[in-house]
Amino acid sequence: MEHLGFDEFGEIGRLFRPLTNGAPEALGLLDDAAILTPPPGEALIVTTDTMVAGVHFLSDTPPELVAKKLLRVNLSDLAAKGAEPWGWFLTVAWPQTYDAAARRAFAAGLAEDQTRYGLTLWGGDTVSTPGPLTVGATLVGRAPVGAAVTRSGARAGDVVLVSGTIGDAGLGLEALGGALPDLNAAERDAVVLHHRLPEPRLALRGSLRGFASAAADVSDGLLADAGRIGIASGMGVEIDLHAVPLSLTAARWLARQGDEAAGRVRLATAGDDYEVVCTTPPGRVDPFCASAQAVGVALTPIGRMVEGAGVLALFHGRPAPVERLGWTHG
Ligand code: ADP
Ligand code: MG
Repeated sequence: MEHLGFDEFGEIGRLFRPLTNGAPEALGLLDDAAILTPPPGEALIVTTDTMVAGVHFLSDTPPELVAKKLLRVNLSDLAAKGAEPWGWFLTVAWPQTYDAAARRAFAAGLAEDQTRYGLTLWGGDTVSTPGPLTVGATLVGRAPVGAAVTRSGARAGDVVLVSGTIGDAGLGLEALGGALPDLNAAERDAVVLHHRLPEPRLALRGSLRGFASAAADVSDGLLADAGRIGIASGMGVEIDLHAVPLSLTAARWLARQGDEAAGRVRLATAGDDYEVVCTTPPGRVDPFCASAQAVGVALTPIGRMVEGAGVLALFHGRPAPVERLGWTHG
């Protein structure tokens, strides 16, 4: 990677300075660093994710959608911690083929979702690359000290819950690749949108802070990410596959599969859901679900934390074969 020349610095100002909204932290994007002063009593929650064209998104994805997904996958991590989005840093490696119009469209996508989710750009880095478009974001959120929810707080006997529905984005990715010819046009559009523009569960912040003993966002597959709560908390996880909530589209897809258990495993390991998987003691499930419902998010109990280690996927009480829990990092 080669650092860009002085002309490109002008482009940084044109493209990205407007995204600072004049925030004092950004120092006008004219300085070496940003300066953050969190309000007294608040902790900073920081997360970073990088996306590579051809690896994390299809190379022909429109620039504004790449921009929005970059923010949303990172916002999903903040959401799972019960953090309130505050500001962020952008790293971009432009390929030579990414022309001025594409860069402007990328910045426009960022601007739209920044406003939507209450974020401000504070800085970043810009380079050119002979490789594919590579974009990274580091997001900073806030929460009262001690209020953020980690993966490590689950206890044996805690109930596992998940927000929304699972598997739609995985079906969307397959549809984009030309598979799933038996989806009708409306179903196809719905799952493709789920894949391209996930909706981070920021509304769950208060509920998670109030009730969750542990939480993680579902990016690599429900079984994989539930398993990571197990690893961090030092215990095993049992997921009841038939309890995993499905959209109408996914349910219709499932009904056409010969092997229901295998179909449910596929949905629960597909990834890119950007829902929240979390745990709470049995006695708190009802108020937790009611609290989430009050902010428009469905939470569904799907399993339990147990002594031991590993993830067991149960289909009507019997272990279902699982080849891989989800996507691994790479
Ligand atoms: P340095 O050489 O000190 O690392 P740069 O020339 O990389 O500084 O960056 C100058 C300013 O522009 C800094 O405030 C930096 O945060 C900002 N900046 C550079 N690239 C980006 C970007 N992609 N998004 C936001 N701010 C950026
Ligand atoms: Mg510097």
